[in-house]
Amino acid sequence: MPEPDTRRLIILGSTGSIGVQTLDVVAHLNTLADRGEHATRYEVVALAAGRNADLLRAQASRFNVGAIALADDQIDAPSAWRRGEDAAASIVRELDADLVVSAMVGAAGLPATLAAALRGLNIALANKESLVTAGALVTRAAQSSGAALLPLDSEHSALWQCLTGLSTDTALTPPLASPPEGVHRLILTASGGPFRDWPADRIAGATRAQALAHPTWDMGPKITIDCASMTNKAL
Ligand code: NDP
Repeated sequence: MPEPDTRRLIILGSTGSIGVQTLDVVAHLNTLADRGEHATRYEVVALAAGRNADLLRAQASRFNVGAIALADDQIDAPSAWRRGEDAAASIVRELDADLVVSAMVGAAGLPATLAAALRGLNIALANKESLVTAGALVTRAAQSSGAALLPLDSEHSALWQCLTGLSTDTALTPPLASPPEGVHRLILTASGGPFRDWPADRIAGATRAQALAHPTWDMGPKITIDCASMTNKAL
């Protein structure tokens, strides 16, 4: 049986909805690789999170991860961990990886995402806020370093897959510099959040709890509110 290839991953935001699912996928694919049913093994070389030291500790031990970053420096945590708001970016600046999963929430994800783009590390991007806040910087850095920006977010990934389907270059990494000929407009449809059947006057009085009760997806609170308010489509 041939030895599987190994790819090294840095997972930023590992304790969140996307981060936890990413680690589930890693565990599943590694089980298949061990059985000879998948050609690639994934080694998690670093994890980063904001405050959830307990889950981070459990993830580090389960996946045998050496480098850990926790943004909150007031929480009790092992002394070997990097601490503070720059901790995640410092890991990205120093460690080698085949792919950086950028899944921190909000603009806090920008420094580490930009650091990966500057170094030419390929990025699986869920943290769309880094493109909303500094898209020109991140994409320019990725273009000059050769880093691939691969969309994890479903809308972006769907558009990307449609565009690559139209392109003659189906490998498409890094992404197309311009849309394939004939594409004039991209339209995002909405699949239905908690307020899909509500009249506008009822939506005006909706509570936070109602907005957080997405009927289909169990996501982090920010994106769930963004979905309910349609802000997600704008992002
Ligand atoms: P969550 O709220 O579930 O998780 C956020 C993650 O970011 C956690 O690991 C959190 O750590 C970490 N974090 C927060 N602040 C900091 C900080 N200052 N420094 C380092 N880490 C920090 O969010 P989601 O997983 O839902 O979303 C993550 C990103 O993916 C967002 O940009 C979102 O828009 C996007 N996205 C999410 C989708 C989903 O299905 N969930 C779908 C499409 C896009 P801790 O837990 O320790 O606080």
